[in-house]
Amino acid sequence: MIKETKIYQVLARIKRNVRLIIYPKPKAQYTYREFCKMLTKTKGTFFKYDEIDYHKTQRFPFELSDSFVRNKKVCFLRHDIDHDPFIALKMAKIEAEYKLFGSYYMLTTDTDIKKIWDKKRVKSLKALKEIQDLGHEVGFHYDLLGDYLETGKDVGRICEQTLAEFRAAGIKVSGCVAHGSGRLSTYLSEKKIKDYPRECLNFNIWEESNEKPGMVELNNRKVNIPFLKLTDYGMRYEAYKVRRNYYHSDNGYVFWQHGDPIETINDKMDEGEVTCILVHPYVWRKNMG
Ligand SMILES: [Zn+2]
Repeated sequence: MIKETKIYQVLARIKRNVRLIIYPKPKAQYTYREFCKMLTKTKGTFFKYDEIDYHKTQRFPFELSDSFVRNKKVCFLRHDIDHDPFIALKMAKIEAEYKLFGSYYMLTTDTDIKKIWDKKRVKSLKALKEIQDLGHEVGFHYDLLGDYLETGKDVGRICEQTLAEFRAAGIKVSGCVAHGSGRLSTYLSEKKIKDYPRECLNFNIWEESNEKPGMVELNNRKVNIPFLKLTDYGMRYEAYKVRRNYYHSDNGYVFWQHGDPIETINDKMDEGEVTCILVHPYVWRKNMG
């Protein structure tokens, strides 16, 4: 049985690589280093999420305190490390050269990353600490709902254990951001649920980012979605739920989703508004500069 799974995995990897040779992933028209240079020439003020004080308003679970946004075009450089912390470290070094500092969130579960994380845990934590030492923030990128639906395990404990490992390595985690879980989409489609229910978005597991506990129907069975409190885990924000007026991402190797971030900062943003630029370090691995 194990042998069969292994053969299947090897075949799947070969298939993926062949597909990548025939249809290579697109690259941005500039390197990441050039992108950093462009960002430094804008009028944006770059913050890390952990530098800001937040409060809840009717519209936003995490509104920024006025002193941070007044007379500024507030920009966040958010990095979702879905794959490889070592590529993220390269990116963090380039940004630091340009005095750009942002927030890096590390995923430790979900299909691809679990293999890297389990095999290279000590080295990975060292790379993350190095990212922090360069002046960036390091936080938790999580798929706790995927963990829960796949294994039925107590995700509060998983969260606690992961954060304990981060903190034991000297990483000061004060916030997190949800992973758009591939595993969760696959799981739900296997259950013949086509539309991703709102309750199955990872960030809805936090009391601070949601009004009430969620429930989802799977195979005619009602399943309660875990409902946790950020503060119980020493965290004070969920970056997904922080107010943003503009959002650009390199998701799916598109440069960029929702238009060009440089244009947004220069021409569209008003002072007091917030832009989040989401980058996936892995997407730039062949175009770092
Ligand atoms: Zn992710």
